[in-house]
Amino acid sequence: MEFKNMDLIAPLLKAIQEIGYNEPTAIQQQAIPVLLTGKDIIGCAQTGTGKTAAFAIPLLQKIAQSGLTDNKTQALILVPTRELAIQIGQSLDAYSKYLQIKHTVIFGGVSQHKQVESLKKGATIIVATPGRLLDLLGQKLIDLRALRYFVLDEADNMLDMGFIHDIKKLLKVIPKERQTLLFSATMPKSIRKLAEEILRSPVEVQV
Ligand code: AMP
Repeated sequence: MEFKNMDLIAPLLKAIQEIGYNEPTAIQQQAIPVLLTGKDIIGCAQTGTGKTAAFAIPLLQKIAQSGLTDNKTQALILVPTRELAIQIGQSLDAYSKYLQIKHTVIFGGVSQHKQVESLKKGATIIVATPGRLLDLLGQKLIDLRALRYFVLDEADNMLDMGFIHDIKKLLKVIPKERQTLLFSATMPKSIRKLAEEILRSPVEVQV
């Protein structure tokens, strides 16, 4: 399957072409069609497999097609580390080059000032690490009531780093009616259990 046969909208195809991706990777071939139909997914994939594009491209397409332009946060991508958050932010920059979809990156260890300024301009997609996200939610600087897409990336690393309580807190404040994506390099019992709690009839993809 090629990108141009995946029912992707022109602004995304143009960006993908410019970046220089010729063919979708295995995870992209499996995940993109499933995600475009709105189904939940549990993806077993390491970094380096192209999993960022596998979730970011359909997410951008669904947001673009929803026609919602009210600046409310529709998607949250939760990640364990600031490095990954920044990297996903850069990928979103590239994939959304021809779309009017704003995103911002939230992580701890730095002043919150710039992040808050960026949030005030409106962020349809937020990429965040758990601690700073909950901090800003507590200060009512982030509103997730209109959330429709929730991505949990590197879920195994999240649990290893002790973020399970933060994830549970977050789940209490985001809408139950949503599309949820869980990616993990390994699938221990703890991840299976979490997946059962947060996913609805997920499609399993593996590379
Ligand atoms: P990731 O697994 O998301 O960290 O991606 C790993 C690397 O693969 C990144 O440098 C991506 O830009 C690149 N990549 C993602 N999808 C493709 C593709 N379809 N063709 C070529 N490179 C890709």
